[in-house]
Amino acid sequence: MTAKILDGNALAKMLREQFARRVSVLTAKGRQPGLAVVLVGDNPASQVYVRNKVSACEATGIYSNMSVFSQDVDPKAVLERIAELNADARVHGILVQLPLPAQFDEQMILEAIDPEKDVDGFHATNIGALTQGNPRFIPCTPYGIMKMIEHAGVPISGKHAVIVGRSNIVGKPMALLLLSRNATVTICHSRTSDLSLHTRRADILIAAVGKPRFINGEMIKPGALVVDVGINRLPDSEGGKLCGDVDFASCKEVASFITPVPGGVGPMTITMLLANTIQVADRAEG
Ligand code: NDP
Repeated sequence: MTAKILDGNALAKMLREQFARRVSVLTAKGRQPGLAVVLVGDNPASQVYVRNKVSACEATGIYSNMSVFSQDVDPKAVLERIAELNADARVHGILVQLPLPAQFDEQMILEAIDPEKDVDGFHATNIGALTQGNPRFIPCTPYGIMKMIEHAGVPISGKHAVIVGRSNIVGKPMALLLLSRNATVTICHSRTSDLSLHTRRADILIAAVGKPRFINGEMIKPGALVVDVGINRLPDSEGGKLCGDVDFASCKEVASFITPVPGGVGPMTITMLLANTIQVADRAEG
């Protein structure tokens, strides 16, 4: 079996074209959606992610503004900026790029964002709403993955979904979304014993581990849908390229659907950030 590749770039392009049309309607009514991005420090990966988010806004017609702080900034300055953005009517969504430097209490910063503008969906209020099955914002990466599964036409109800990784930004919200669609969900993590036992039972396998090529073809069920969330930079000795958590070469021979890295989940994450921002402007319009 050779898996069908779930092309995140193509789906993202299609959705962004739809979004651009909606943005131009809102803009014509004086309600241009706006996203504010806060970047602290000089993490090169964060700088790339933020740049990509801002340029995706520009290409879609969404207003964006960026606040950049040095690595050693006093967290109070960032809190003040968030308060200004909360009050700024041009800004419908606020995103603080993670991770933050060591002097920050990350959750405290995320809680300072107005929950109505929390387009990443990380505020405790929004996580609570998601847990209750009544989300205000769906965190962008799991949201993008759901769109990819839907687009592939693969049924979710009654299937066994296995998620490797239990982070607040990917693994846990992913589990809630799949559960809300009536999958039977298993969450694995670093203390899971006999990981392969679980991954081999997955009709839908989501890998969000942060370890290059961690999942190989022997660990998956024939015909599974495999989603690779990982973004790992290989050492220069291996070409310095980006690589996922899934060993694409061996898994594509066993799976029925597979997402590539790059060009899979990554572009969909940014796309759903745009969707969440437009949703706030839409809501403001009533
Ligand atoms: P975290 O580091 O927060 O979480 C990693 C998870 O993997 C943890 O739950 C950890 O378990 C688990 N894990 C680690 N080692 C093992 C192991 N040996 N066996 C089983 N589970 C293990 O990462 P994130 O969730 O933030 O991100 C995961 C990956 O996805 C990263 O590569 C990141 O760059 C990428 N990413 C990609 C995005 C995209 O848009 N494509 C968006 C967000 C992230 P434990 O909890 O026990 O420590």
